[in-house]
Amino acid sequence: MIYQRSSALFAEAKKYIPGGVNSPVRAFKAVGGEPIFVKRAKGAYLYDEDGNQLIDFISSWGPLILGHAYEPVINAVIEKARKGTSFGMPTEIETQLARLAVSMVPNIDKIRFVNSGTEACMSAVRLARGYTGKDKIIKFAGCYHGHSDAFLIQAGSGAVTFGSPNSPGVTQGTAKDTLLADYNDMDGVKTLVQANSGEIAAIILEPVAGNMGCIVPSEQFVHGLRELCSQEGILLLFDEVMTGFRLAKGGAQEALGVDADIVMFGKVIGGGLPVGAFAAKAEIMAHLAPEGPVYQAGTLSGNPLAMSAGLAMLTELNTNPEVFSSLDNKTKYLHEGITTVLEERGIAHQINRFGSMLSVHFCEGPVVDFASSAHGNNDRFKKYFHGMLKRGIYLPPSAFESYFLNDALSYSDLDKTIEATRHCEF
Ligand SMILES: *Cc1c(COP(=O)(O)O)cnc(C)c1O
Repeated sequence: MIYQRSSALFAEAKKYIPGGVNSPVRAFKAVGGEPIFVKRAKGAYLYDEDGNQLIDFISSWGPLILGHAYEPVINAVIEKARKGTSFGMPTEIETQLARLAVSMVPNIDKIRFVNSGTEACMSAVRLARGYTGKDKIIKFAGCYHGHSDAFLIQAGSGAVTFGSPNSPGVTQGTAKDTLLADYNDMDGVKTLVQANSGEIAAIILEPVAGNMGCIVPSEQFVHGLRELCSQEGILLLFDEVMTGFRLAKGGAQEALGVDADIVMFGKVIGGGLPVGAFAAKAEIMAHLAPEGPVYQAGTLSGNPLAMSAGLAMLTELNTNPEVFSSLDNKTKYLHEGITTVLEERGIAHQINRFGSMLSVHFCEGPVVDFASSAHGNNDRFKKYFHGMLKRGIYLPPSAFESYFLNDALSYSDLDKTIEATRHCEF
């Protein structure tokens, strides 16, 4: 394939935008080469500026669960735009989306809309701190909760020490309130909670992790966290920005059978427009301004275009819940197909999957946390990525990202993808 125009556009973008992109993973730093500039997309396919067609496995990193330019979503946005794009005053559609989301998701009474997953997680932690009157939070290595300061913390030197910032610009003062544990390590969490008894406001996690590849929580881990939080008066925060309205109508809470205290959304809930949200029981949400003292606001929050995209998307998912089993079946088919090919070719691998999230790791042994995920053969991953790209398949350009299937993918697209794996140079 030729990427002449993409290459020229990237060179021009770099003159005016740091690194040429507005979100780092787009720049292909983890896989090498230059990013592809998209011109348009429809269904399961991306069409780039050079006229190449690609089968898309990232679905805009999750939101486009029904495929690109999905007609009901596009029509809703166009119709809404004609009536004005922002008012800074309440609109009925905010209540319509809130009512629908609350009806689909277990264990929540009220929801507040924001503009991104980052905002949702940042605000949810503020609410948890305001509600409990405690400062510290526990997060898990490898879980991503957006780019607000409190979450940009990596492992320190052992479970009970304070985390140290992993980005310049995050202060030690912020870092000291974020404690780090390993995913799927219940004993580690218990140790942390004991060492910081009475000081922890919240435990936050991706209930199925998707930002270190796809990592499935053990039953003992998620149920253990729920029990521990209830015992210790800690709020359990599920970051469902990826999993919400993707793993099931009710997201990971429903899929795993575990209730969280505050749930954060993004991606699918905005149908491809910038939306985030956080939700909880009325008693917790009552602490939020203007009802309560915990401040949170947004000029464009509940924006009518964003709400109309979200409403059209959730309406589709709510009325056609077979989408979720259809996606599960497609993802399973892809999983089995790639497994067969890699086994035939004698390439060590581990494929993790939950619902329509999947990741291929080039390593031996199970991938259950950040350390085991980081173990993968990155050289092989890069070759796989570029080998697939050459054959018209767009995979996530980082070994730490999950595939997000969309229901516009056909079995013939999946067969092509499996076949491409067979011919990939490793
Ligand atoms: C994408 C993501 C976020 C951040 O959402 P943005 O809309 O990019 O700010 C937070 N948490 C998880 C689990 C995510 O996947």
